[in-house]
Amino acid sequence: MGSLPERYLVIPLVQGRVSKATVAPLIDRIRSRATGWSGKMLSFQSRVILIQSILTSLPIFNMAIYKWPMAAIKEGEIIIRNFLWSGDPAKKKLLTVKWDTSKVLKQRRSSHSIQKKSSIWTGLKEAIVSVKANSKWIIGSGKDIDFWRDYWGSDVAITEILDINPDIWKHCKAKLSQIIHQNTWAAPPEIVEFLATLGIDLKNITLNNSDKDIRVWKHCSHGNFSVQSAYHQISSHRPKVWWFKYINNKAILPRIASFTWKVCNNVLATEDNLRKRGLNMASRCSLCRCNLETSDHLFWHCPMSIQTWDWMASLFCIQAGFSNLQSSLEFCTQLSSYIADIWKAAVLKLIYFLWRARNDAFLEGITFSPNDIKRKICFAVKDAAGLSGNCMANNCLELQIVAAWESPQKPDLCPEFRAVLGLFPGFRK
Ligand SMILES: [Zn+2]
Repeated sequence: MGSLPERYLVIPLVQGRVSKATVAPLIDRIRSRATGWSGKMLSFQSRVILIQSILTSLPIFNMAIYKWPMAAIKEGEIIIRNFLWSGDPAKKKLLTVKWDTSKVLKQRRSSHSIQKKSSIWTGLKEAIVSVKANSKWIIGSGKDIDFWRDYWGSDVAITEILDINPDIWKHCKAKLSQIIHQNTWAAPPEIVEFLATLGIDLKNITLNNSDKDIRVWKHCSHGNFSVQSAYHQISSHRPKVWWFKYINNKAILPRIASFTWKVCNNVLATEDNLRKRGLNMASRCSLCRCNLETSDHLFWHCPMSIQTWDWMASLFCIQAGFSNLQSSLEFCTQLSSYIADIWKAAVLKLIYFLWRARNDAFLEGITFSPNDIKRKICFAVKDAAGLSGNCMANNCLELQIVAAWESPQKPDLCPEFRAVLGLFPGFRK
């Protein structure tokens, strides 16, 4: 007799519920990897890439089989969060973006209603709910379909539509087969009427000729479940943020993209943000030296920044006067995609260089120089123009903008007209 292997396909086999101690070796591996990188001078963007490609992929196989206890997930998150923000897994930084864990916690609470001594049951139970909600039935005899809880007539189960005492559902155990007789609907008129009030019209639901009830995955034309379609389904439900399309652009460098992400989440270490975290300090704008330092003031209302914005807007032949990042970025919707790329890059670079100038003034006492920023933006815009794969509109305004920035021209190639000899079918000379 052979003994049970300890590992199967790299996953350790676990008996009973998965505890924090079970997954502790994996958490230790994440910690030791992150600690190994902590001495290196890595940028924020490099740390994001290391986290996405290595740290978060270490537990993937294990998590696909076992549902991790919340304490273990939190410990892993703390290691990753500290490494991301401070470069050291053991060092916490004051200004970070809070992760939205409320949903995870809620899901976990609801999964405790049935307990089994199994290492995979908790994970399976959670997946069953999503599989049920995303599948439909090809109805045969209806013996396998729960009349109340399955998604057979519409996109929601009857239990989800009716708002009644949850205790009553314990007594509702009817199968769909009770209203089907010899492959045709045989529901009493009261039931037909009741279903009609819920938006289910039995006449519109065709029955399968065979006796079998077949569950099919809604998001695939063949009805087969695939991890890819399930992933797209989950990711499409995530709320979209307005700045997503601006930072996922070929012309925007990763360093600028991650800086923009910090600006949008308001986690820059401005003096007002540090004060909110309990650090007592007198606040003064490092650029103009006469106002309170907030992100809004620094980027949009400081006389020094306004001067730079005006210069940049004049090169784009527009009137400046922006008051936030969103309105300034959305300005480019009327431009051709090439000029829009240049505009986006110029806006994001200006914000970035203003922040760098603020840090130089704050930490090293270097006086703000508008000409220095203008020179840097000119170089950066030329780079972005080279990276952009789009075309410009063939008009004087856009030619003027391109010339002002000394960027390459990328004209939209005109369609070519050629004479074609031939006759339409049915026509004779
Ligand atoms: Zn100022």
